[in-house]
Amino acid sequence: MSTDCLFCKIAAGAIPAKLVYQDDHLVAFRDIHPVAPTHILLIPRRHMDSLADTEPADRELLGGLLLVASELARDEGLSESGYRLVTNTGANAGQSVPHLHFHLIGGRAMTWPPG
Ligand code: 5GP
Ligand code: ZN
Repeated sequence: MSTDCLFCKIAAGAIPAKLVYQDDHLVAFRDIHPVAPTHILLIPRRHMDSLADTEPADRELLGGLLLVASELARDEGLSESGYRLVTNTGANAGQSVPHLHFHLIGGRAMTWPPG
């Protein structure tokens, strides 16, 4: 755990969050400022700054994360209506927390392209 990383602390249980899923490698919890009826963050337990910080050895971890996102979307009743899975990477994308996370957003119509 990176001692000054917010999402490492959430993954370790040191900062409370509304967890919706956890296993040995991944944690998912509700965003503190939801932008839609469903807004869940999925993170690896192991600290990595962003998607730019991943490598071929992370293949299984990242594949597992996509499958968990799909399961959570199904649990939230979003499979039919649709949803978005987004990872902001770096300054131009507006990443504000430097621990890799995917936003699972759904429950309302969204526009494209993003701002
Ligand atoms: P980013 O802007 O890096 O793509 O997304 C960071 C997300 O983390 C934001 O949607 C923000 O609302 C969320 N967030 C920031 N601090 C906390 C927190 O302490 N708890 C939870 N659950 N979400 C947080
Ligand atoms: Zn971290």
